[in-house]
Amino acid sequence: MPIKVDVKKCIGCSRCVRECPGDVLCMDPKTKRPINKYKNDCWYCGVCVIECPVGAAEMEFPILIV
Ligand code: SF4
Ligand code: SF4
Repeated sequence: MPIKVDVKKCIGCSRCVRECPGDVLCMDPKTKRPINKYKNDCWYCGVCVIECPVGAAEMEFPILIV
C-alpha cells in the first residue's frame, strides 16, 4: 500500500489526491478521507507525504525479497 493515512490527523483537504502525479489516490465520499484507488500505480515519489499540511500521510514501502 503506497500511503497510509492517519485518519485522526487528516483534515480531508484532498491536497494529496490533487497533487499525486499518478492519480493513485481518490477521496472516499463517505469518510471524506483519501484512499489508495490504484495502489499498484504508485511509484513512491513522496509527493503526497510532502504536500500533506498536517503530516497525516505516511509512506509504506513494499517488502523486497532478495
Ligand atoms: S507516493 Fe507519489 S505516486 Fe504514490 S500515492 Fe503518493 S503522490 Fe501518488
Ligand atoms: S493532504 Fe493530508 S490532510 Fe489532506 S486529505 Fe491528504 S492526508 Fe488528509
